[in-house]
Amino acid sequence: MSDSNRLRIAIQKSGRLSDDSIALLKAIGVKLQIRDRLLIAHATNLPIDLLRVRDDDIPGLVMDGVVDLGFIGENELEEKMLERQASGKKFEFKTLRRLDYGGCRLSIAVPNEFNYQGVQSLEGKKVATTYPFLLERFFKENNVNASAVMLTGSVEVAPRAGVADAICDLVSTGATLEANGLQEEEEIFQSKAVLIQRAGELPEAKAQLVSRFLPRIDGVMQAKE
Ligand code: ATP
Ligand code: ZN
Repeated sequence: MSDSNRLRIAIQKSGRLSDDSIALLKAIGVKLQIRDRLLIAHATNLPIDLLRVRDDDIPGLVMDGVVDLGFIGENELEEKMLERQASGKKFEFKTLRRLDYGGCRLSIAVPNEFNYQGVQSLEGKKVATTYPFLLERFFKENNVNASAVMLTGSVEVAPRAGVADAICDLVSTGATLEANGLQEEEEIFQSKAVLIQRAGELPEAKAQLVSRFLPRIDGVMQAKE
């Protein structure tokens, strides 16, 4: 265990949010020495430890109060919130900043040959996704009886594999959909990376560190505009 006086920040170990999150920490003055294999990275100039994990684990680490802060995509955060709500677990946190990276949308896409006429076309269909709670909320809001088929990867090949009729997946450019003969039909959630903090008060020294960082984050984002 690392020292509890150090601010603990959860960050995606490797993936689409890693480089931008690390670049942001460096830009606000956190000096980091990251060794690829290690779970923990210590800042060399400040009392900060980074916990490097899969992005799926970050909402839970923050909501369980295991870490103080986390960088996470809103899609994953909202999904885990719904999941924890459904199973009666705590799901409180504070959003400190919405960031300027990690932009994407969660969309329903259907095979090109699917005669899509609006959400009602999904009635009775199976939709493959990594985000079953967000998808089921969309079905409910739109009064559609369809089922979410949970897949943790290769969602875009599910229709071709005969596993589902349609998919609900993250899209940024749309190139992956096109390459798989899929047509984007419904955008159900828009996402960016956010910096979140656990519920409850942070000890004074940590709170001061965080309040020094926030204006710097704003400055870094403004400079990029
Ligand atoms: P991990 O191994 O950490 O579980 P992952 O495969 O779930 O990684 P990534 O593909 O690295 O995750 O995506 C992490 C986050 O990046 C997404 O949850 C989303 O918020 C954001 N993102 C931005 N653009 C895209 C995109 N085009 N496709 C997928 N995710 C995107
Ligand atoms: Zn993930």
